[in-house]
Amino acid sequence: MRGASGSILASCGGTFPEPGRGVAYPFVESPNKTPTSGREIDVVVVHTMEIAERPDAAAICARWFATPASQVSAHFCVDAARVIQCVREKDVAWHARGGNAASVGVELAGFARQTAKEWDDSYSTAVLNRASAVVADVCGRRRIPVRWLSPDDLVAGRRGITGHAEVSKAYRKSDHWDPGPGFPVQSFLDRVRRAQAAEA
Ligand SMILES: [Zn+2]
Repeated sequence: MRGASGSILASCGGTFPEPGRGVAYPFVESPNKTPTSGREIDVVVVHTMEIAERPDAAAICARWFATPASQVSAHFCVDAARVIQCVREKDVAWHARGGNAASVGVELAGFARQTAKEWDDSYSTAVLNRASAVVADVCGRRRIPVRWLSPDDLVAGRRGITGHAEVSKAYRKSDHWDPGPGFPVQSFLDRVRRAQAAEA
């Protein structure tokens, strides 16, 4: 990803309130999506951007998704400081081949190779907190259970939260393994539950 400097928010298309409690994030629209007039969402897929822990990671990721040639996108990009939305929830983002149709994709700043210890540093802690609030909101509005789905769960059509790695194993259309074996699944789910409890 070249050309990382500068603010893409200057060309931001404005905010788009999702239905429900009127959440709005800065919206940097990606052309890499399949529009629908509305769809069932069963799964939230967690990714790592493979972008370093830097203050503008979400903006860099959003700019990549805004590039037609990238042919990829996700609904939300999250770094330690902000959330940027790139695809409306009703539209299908191109983030996890085989598992896109009924899912929402959330990209976290960081790398799949991060160790558990690296996920525990101050930057990643901020990313996890911010991302868990996004996921809590989506799950709350869509009545998606806060549980981690295995590849078998996905194939069985269960609803919940999972990683790109699990989608890859379930549908065998990708070899992506993010957010990686060091990703703190249980603590992330706990954060999502706490965010929902705080909201309630
Ligand atoms: Zn991914």
